[in-house]
This record gives sequence, structure tokens and C-alpha cells, in this order.
Amino acid sequence: MSALLEVSGITAFYGASQALFGVDLIVNEGEAVALMGRNGMGKTTTIKTICRMMSHRDGEVRFADTDLAKLPSHKAARLGIGLVPEGRRCFARLSVMENLMAAARAGEWDFDRVADLFPRLAERRDQKAMTLSGGEQQMLAIGRALMTNPRLLILDEATEGLAPVVRQEIWAAINRLKQSGLSILVVDKSLKELSGVADRYVVVEKGVTAWTGAVGDLSDELADRYLGV
Ligand code: ATP
Repeated sequence: MSALLEVSGITAFYGASQALFGVDLIVNEGEAVALMGRNGMGKTTTIKTICRMMSHRDGEVRFADTDLAKLPSHKAARLGIGLVPEGRRCFARLSVMENLMAAARAGEWDFDRVADLFPRLAERRDQKAMTLSGGEQQMLAIGRALMTNPRLLILDEATEGLAPVVRQEIWAAINRLKQSGLSILVVDKSLKELSGVADRYVVVEKGVTAWTGAVGDLSDELADRYLGV
């Protein structure tokens, strides 16, 4: 397996305050990796540095054999990282279709394929994003990321605050994406759902990678120590 994303020893700061002290993680081609840890441990900050919304100070972020720090951020975005950000962030006054088309880049993902993954978006194609339910907005956020035809899909708390039945729909879609061979990095708190989709776990604690291993290797004791579940 070859590494698509390789994060090694990154540190990052908010002003003078250090948030990351040495995060390592790898996502291989076709692999689904879950980034986990308690609140405030550095998951979102790690994702922001991977997506170049923040700079790291030490360490390196390599994607598709390119050192992202050496690229301007607009070029880094075009390399193929599709982010589904925490809090969804669609264009509220644009329709479902307009939201999707605004994100589109050439490749195999188009409106029809997104509509096949999320039929509800097709039914609501002319509805403004702000009139969608929370779950539908989340589907739209995932659809937008897919329309960019990413090589790596990153999901930050994609099921947070949603009703159980909608969460199941989103997890089923993530599973389909994984089965289709897409590389995925997912942040979520639900160990049960993650264990169904992820190949490996990476656990961060206080801004440092504290544990990484295959899904089956996370014992109850480790889960309790790092995740408090
Ligand atoms: P959560 O599960 O709550 O989203 P997280 O693991 O994603 O947590 P981060 O959001 O990455 O954690 O936060 C890591 C550290 O950085 C925390 O100590 C947090 O207080 C700090 N931090 C996050 N965002 C900012 C910011 N905009 N300014 C200053 N400090 C921040």
C-alpha cells in the first residue's frame, strides 16, 4: 500500500498558544482512517492544517507525494482533498443544485452520482439549502465535497447533532464510498459506527498522536483511557 496522505510530527499554533505538539498519521490509498480523541485534543486543528486553512510550524504534510507547505493554498486545494467541514457550511441562499454545481470539478462525480448516493438531494434539487433539514444539509455538504472529485475525503463530525435514523443514512453512504475505493479520513465520536467503516484508528491526546492501530486492536481499556467511553 502506498501513502496518499502522510502527516509527520506536525506542530501548530493559534497565536502564541500551541495546539499540536507532534501529530503523525497516514492514510493509504483506498483506506479509511478514523481520527479520534476527546474534545479539544486537536482533531479539527489537524484537519485544518491538512487542508491548508492553517499552517503547521514543524513537521510535514505530504499529499500525493507533494509537500503541501511548498504549494500556495489554492494549488493545494486542487490536488484533491475534499473536506466536509464541521458545521456543514453550504451556501444558504443557493439551491441544492446550485450548491453542488458551484463545487463541481471534472471527474466521475457529477449530480447524477450524488443523487444516486443521496436520493433526497435529487428530490430537493431546487430547494434553497437553508430550508433543508440538518441531515439533508449534511448530505449536501458531503455531496459538495464529492463534486470536487477528491482523492481523499475528509469528514469532520459528519453526524453530530443528527437524529439516529439520519445518522444511519449518512453512515451507510460513507460505507458505500469506502467500498467504492475512496480514501477517507473521518473524525467522529461514535466508536460503534467508526468500527464499521474504518480500517485503522489514530488517537490524538493533547496535540500528540498517542496511539495508532488496526480497528480490532483497540482494547476496551485503551478506548476507555483515550476516549473515555
Ligand atoms: P472537538 O472534538 O471539541 O472539536 P478537537 O479535538 O477537534 O475537539 P481542536 O478544535 O483541534 O480539538 O482544539 C485543539 C486545541 O486548540 C484546544 O485546546 C482548543 O482550545 C484550541 N483551539 C481550537 N481552536 C482555537 C482557536 N480558534 N483559537 C485558539 N485556540 C483554539
